[in-house]
Amino acid sequence: MGGVSPHLEDLPLRDDLRGMTPYGAPQAPLPVALNVNENTHPVPQEVADDIMDSIALALRDVNRYPDREFTDLREGFADYLGHGLTREQIWAANGSNEVLQHVLQAFAGPGRTAFGFAPTYSMYPLLARATGAEWIAGTRGADYTVDASDAAAQVADAAPDVVFLCAPNNPTGTPLGLDVIEAVYDAAPGVVVVDEAYFEFAPRDERSALTLLPGRERLVVSRTMSKAFAFAGARVGYLAADPAFVDALRLVRLPYHLSALTQAAASAALRHASTMLRMVDEIVSQRDRISATVEALGYTPHESWTNFVLFGGVADPAATWQALYDRGVLIRDVGIPQHLRVTAGTEDETTAFLDALASVGSNA
Ligand SMILES: *Cc1c(COP(=O)(O)O)cnc(C)c1O
Repeated sequence: MGGVSPHLEDLPLRDDLRGMTPYGAPQAPLPVALNVNENTHPVPQEVADDIMDSIALALRDVNRYPDREFTDLREGFADYLGHGLTREQIWAANGSNEVLQHVLQAFAGPGRTAFGFAPTYSMYPLLARATGAEWIAGTRGADYTVDASDAAAQVADAAPDVVFLCAPNNPTGTPLGLDVIEAVYDAAPGVVVVDEAYFEFAPRDERSALTLLPGRERLVVSRTMSKAFAFAGARVGYLAADPAFVDALRLVRLPYHLSALTQAAASAALRHASTMLRMVDEIVSQRDRISATVEALGYTPHESWTNFVLFGGVADPAATWQALYDRGVLIRDVGIPQHLRVTAGTEDETTAFLDALASVGSNA
């Protein structure tokens, strides 16, 4: 439910945390939940069985601390990512949020700054401020695009210690060209994080920022198993970077931060990557169906390379959000005026959303 306790202000809280609000996407038990960009297709049964067997095996040794270096899992991510990556270049944690937190703990912190092009992922400023760093919001061009020379100029001007490039961007769905990443890297004095949480939903022939890693030791590419991999509840995110960068993250992580059960579950899921990812094409077709249908209803969907659609032309987002809620459909008001964001669900969930939106009626 979120909300800050009325007594919080009476505690000897850090000054820089006063007045902050925790992350609080509503977790309501509605029949159709399309608000936090999960993969709404369950893990296929044959994969679930193998994950269960792997967890059962790991449980036999659960009296011992897990492999602190999660070697097998890093090997699995290196194999999955390809591009000649080796396990020394891989890091992982409990969700990519924790991966990003490790980056900020090592490279941001008090007296330092982190930067992103707003509107972007709402967790970046929260994670940055929690390490004591200051958040700097850059700007986007028309339709939320970012252009290489403008981006480089903004970054050169702000000279941040950490830059976040969300590619494609949440909450807008906007693709980001590799030319922008190269230009920002050259202009940035510090670390550049390319967050590819939604990369698997981009067109198949698109190049990943992973191809830019060689020779760029301040560049990192983060990914997550929460979206395409249908593994949000397991909490597993990861990144690829130079081995020296990975060593920096070891300075700030808690020892044994990835439990033996998490490691076992994630390694098993990775062995079935193609099965885990088989719903991606179906989700992409539901996403495109959402874009086409909301446009036909008179709204303005933005281009999306993700598993969600941000659409504008919503006269009263709070009222439309509530009307959908009352019809059993949960979507997201991301705070952009006249906009709402919806995750592509299964065909039935997507139909339920589109029917509900149509029944809400005129957006005038
Ligand atoms: C969902 C999301 C993540 C993933 O977070 P996890 O902690 O791995 O669940 C990361 N970045 C962006 C932009 C996201 O939308």
